[in-house]
Amino acid sequence: MASILWVLVDAWRGYRMRSWLRRGDLAMAPQMSGWWGVLSDRARKLLRDRERSIAAGEQRLKDFLSAIQASPNGVVMLDANAQIEWSNQTAANHLGIHPERDVMQRVGNLLRDPVFTAYMAVEHPVDPVVMAGHRHRMSSPVRISVQRHRYGEGKQLLLTRDVTLLEQAEAMRRDFVANVSHEIRTPLTVLSGFVETLQTLDLDTDEQHRYLALMALQAVRMQGLVEDLLTLSRLEGSPVPNFINTVPLSSLLVACESEARGLSDIIAKGAPPHHIAFESSSLLDQALLMGEQRELQSALSNLVTNAVRYTPAGGHINVSVEQAADASLSIAVRDTGAGIAAEHLPRLTERFYRVDRSRSRESGGTGLGLAIVKHVMQRHGGSLSITSELAKGSCFKLTFPANRWRIAP
Ligand code: ADP
Repeated sequence: MASILWVLVDAWRGYRMRSWLRRGDLAMAPQMSGWWGVLSDRARKLLRDRERSIAAGEQRLKDFLSAIQASPNGVVMLDANAQIEWSNQTAANHLGIHPERDVMQRVGNLLRDPVFTAYMAVEHPVDPVVMAGHRHRMSSPVRISVQRHRYGEGKQLLLTRDVTLLEQAEAMRRDFVANVSHEIRTPLTVLSGFVETLQTLDLDTDEQHRYLALMALQAVRMQGLVEDLLTLSRLEGSPVPNFINTVPLSSLLVACESEARGLSDIIAKGAPPHHIAFESSSLLDQALLMGEQRELQSALSNLVTNAVRYTPAGGHINVSVEQAADASLSIAVRDTGAGIAAEHLPRLTERFYRVDRSRSRESGGTGLGLAIVKHVMQRHGGSLSITSELAKGSCFKLTFPANRWRIAP
């Protein structure tokens, strides 16, 4: 009788154990004594270990995915059928897909760009492909590089990168090299033409001198171009100016004034030179600019010499210093020259941009002056503003914010 009872109790314990294991709920573990108790404790420990390791795995996966989510590059995981398993927000922005809604969609159905389709058809692509991005417009191009890698069993990883700025920088570099080559080739061709003339023709002394003078002019032009190029590269390559240094504005303007008068005499060639006025004021006498003397001098002298070069002899050039209500300081260079049509104004500070190419060259221009001015002002926390009216004249203004200048004690 006792044995039967024992077998029944044992069977009932076994039944409880089996029902609990089926449910797999740790909190509902049966409390039993004897062998069944040992067994249930052991099973409970194993279950707890398994739950812990699943939770740790899930946490690792979450951390991993949020790390990829924070990446500046786009990541899309595709299954063996090229269906999207997961994508981060960056890839979604690059490609115009939705990280949740488009899960399990075939990527080829979502991205119809022929460049992408052709790329996906290649079995083992080596290089990335560059295609138009989701927000690409003719007016504001967006270029995305996509690279595909195979992993696991037939799965694929797409890595995307925004290369718009990189492509723009590369195009600018190409344009710049082409422009520099062109600018150097022009005087060089003239120069070698004169050399050939001198070598082949039997010229009298006067003619020889005339040719040599023309050759010297071309050499000076090339020298000016190389100097401006070196200035630009110095501005790009050196650290921002030290703002502990102060430069008296009056000393900069004194140097500019003598430069302007000298240039005006050369340009006027005996005719009445320009009327050049540097308005004196206590502000001009006392203002100290914070920054690099050499750079500030180059910016100001570019503006003043431009005013002389683009104003017919006899015209007026006026340089004044003003303080605005926000305590910023402006140096305005006004001329009564040819003026500039409104459509050119936004492009004047681009390298080698000229309104009138031949006029710029005739007067010894390199097309880099205003690019240098803009760069110097950016490095000094200031700005260049240009207003102009055709046939009336122009005003080029350098503005320094309140924290970039002060009154001499
Ligand atoms: P450049 O060496 O050709 O003068 P800049 O960069 O100094 O090059 O100026 C760019 C262009 O802006 C010039 O080619 C000229 O067309 C125009 N420009 C600059 N300053 C003046 C000015 N004071 N009056 C009229 N046009 C100007």
